[in-house]
Amino acid sequence: NSNILEVNKLKTTFFSRKTPFNAVDEISFHVAKGETLGIVGESGCGKSVTSLSIMGLVKPPGKVSGDEIKYNGINLLELSKREMRKLRGNEISMIFQEPMTSLNPVYNVGDQIGESLKVHKNLKGKERKEKVVDLLKQVGIPRAEEIYYNYPHQLSGGMRQRIMIAIAMACDPKLIIADEPTTALDVTIQAQILELMKELQAKKGMSMILITHDLGVVSEVCDRLVVMYAGKIVETGAVKDVLSSPSHPYTKGLLASLPKKGHKEKRLNYIPGQVPAPINWGKGCRFSDRCPYVMSKCHTDIPLLTKVKDGQESACWLTVEEGRRAPNDTIEATS
Ligand code: SF4
Ligand code: MG
Repeated sequence: NSNILEVNKLKTTFFSRKTPFNAVDEISFHVAKGETLGIVGESGCGKSVTSLSIMGLVKPPGKVSGDEIKYNGINLLELSKREMRKLRGNEISMIFQEPMTSLNPVYNVGDQIGESLKVHKNLKGKERKEKVVDLLKQVGIPRAEEIYYNYPHQLSGGMRQRIMIAIAMACDPKLIIADEPTTALDVTIQAQILELMKELQAKKGMSMILITHDLGVVSEVCDRLVVMYAGKIVETGAVKDVLSSPSHPYTKGLLASLPKKGHKEKRLNYIPGQVPAPINWGKGCRFSDRCPYVMSKCHTDIPLLTKVKDGQESACWLTVEEGRRAPNDTIEATS
């Protein structure tokens, strides 16, 4: 099998309200070995819940169900908490958005990197320290022997994110899930961190899931992407196909809100409206409130993912019924 991960009909339900809702609503996708898959969407689309579900980190009142989350042939949904802990940080690891909240302020960064080497690889003393220093060098930290003894607050945001990457990489995982790894950083540092992740991934032959709201980041780093909207996948395909000829109106809207060439300032455009709250998902297409092509059918029936071309699928009635992409005079992003 050439896939490191196969997710089938993943469903993550939260029971905190009177009416339970599925933050992730039967989504299926795969990640090939050595591939980087982007998961894209605005906040509230279920991207982070998807990654936490894979990692076994959804806490009650949340519950993960679905057919399977198959990692390297093992269905993660059938593993015990203990078995899952053995995998996490070892075979699959995660990089979060805000390093300051994920790092422990009272331990030096060297010891924090060494922690998973202790837990998973039983490395001790000098051997562990050498490995940590080596990791610090691999993630481009200068004066590694010295920085080892620094505390998180002594480092810049970019350096802290490098520490997080070192922690994630410590045990040579086969799959890394990075959730908005560069969102909190300024643009220059963001580019450096993405470059580093790309480089390490190629060098180690890891697979990666990169979660982001930013299609610009996806075009830099990913091979394929999945676009999520309100708990569902609405489009998927190779990055070059989807970005050059997006099919779903939501993908088109995301693309239209990217800053144009020559406009370096932060983006001002966005798709009018908001991701609906789960209680307002209704029966039909969940994008219907914001979609310029909405038809009466869209309000009553939810479209399934349908092939647009080889490897590219879109969940939109324009594709399902009329076999076409959304028109090119697409969503006017407003400012
Ligand atoms: Fe728009 Fe209808 Fe397509 Fe949904 S199904 S994206 S509302 S055209
Ligand atoms: Mg998120």
